[in-house]
Amino acid sequence: MNYIELKSVQYSYNEKSKKVLDNISFMIDKGDMLSIIGPNGSGKSTLLKLINGIIAPNSGSILFEGKDIDSISKKELARKFAFVMQQNHVDFEFTCEEIVMMGRYPYLRRFESESEEDLNIVIEAMKNTGVYHLKDKSINEISGGEKQRVFIAKAIAQTPEVLFIDEGTSNLDIRYKLDILKLLQKLNEDGMTIVMVQHDLDLTARFSKSVCLLHNGKVHTLDTPEGVFLEKNIRDVYGIESIISSDNPIKAPIIIPL
Ligand code: ADP
Ligand code: MG
Repeated sequence: MNYIELKSVQYSYNEKSKKVLDNISFMIDKGDMLSIIGPNGSGKSTLLKLINGIIAPNSGSILFEGKDIDSISKKELARKFAFVMQQNHVDFEFTCEEIVMMGRYPYLRRFESESEEDLNIVIEAMKNTGVYHLKDKSINEISGGEKQRVFIAKAIAQTPEVLFIDEGTSNLDIRYKLDILKLLQKLNEDGMTIVMVQHDLDLTARFSKSVCLLHNGKVHTLDTPEGVFLEKNIRDVYGIESIISSDNPIKAPIIIPL
């Protein structure tokens, strides 16, 4: 059985507007570390919201382990999927630790309070993302990059099978960017499937097992980083000339725009 499967998915935000996603079909294997890339407005965030069941396709279907995600209860889905959105607004003065603890809610019964095990998972997730020292601060009084890491900690505390992350590292300085990508890589090595929308092409090339390149609401190419980062593909989709070089110690393709 396929793990995650999109079948002829179409989506537009309203009836009159043009299709944001047009006839998208692909599969995501268990254990993949998939990056979705493409120009601004190419539909990356919309695609991630569809796979998470936050919005429903106009036509086509999205299956998780053979079941339509519409037919899976929100609570059950929250034990399988965690989603770090591109923008996170918090209206109340929750502390950072309270936000991360929300990642444990799908595991609690009604009126049940958190156990010591839940707290330990929360502490570990906060330490791994470098935000433990912020635990008693209000989520609204920390920087954008710190907030981003708190929401990544919340998603990790959710101990999902699949972690979706929409431009999760875009706000971060290079050190945290690298730390978070290495943490995601470690989670992936331990069995978690990772699906991320990425902006930085060089880091995508280095930290992905597969790459889905979106263009005008369609999948242009879905392949290994080496199969996607070709001068022709960059020209087709981004409209720029580039040189792709793998002549570096890490052997990952580096994209040099011309
Ligand atoms: P990306 O994440 O690749 O930048 P998005 O998925 O956010 O792209 O957006 C794809 C297209 O859908 C864009 O043209 C955008 O303007 C439009 N769009 C996104 N969100 C909405 C919305 N809530 N209502 C109407 N149009 C939207
Ligand atoms: Mg987006």
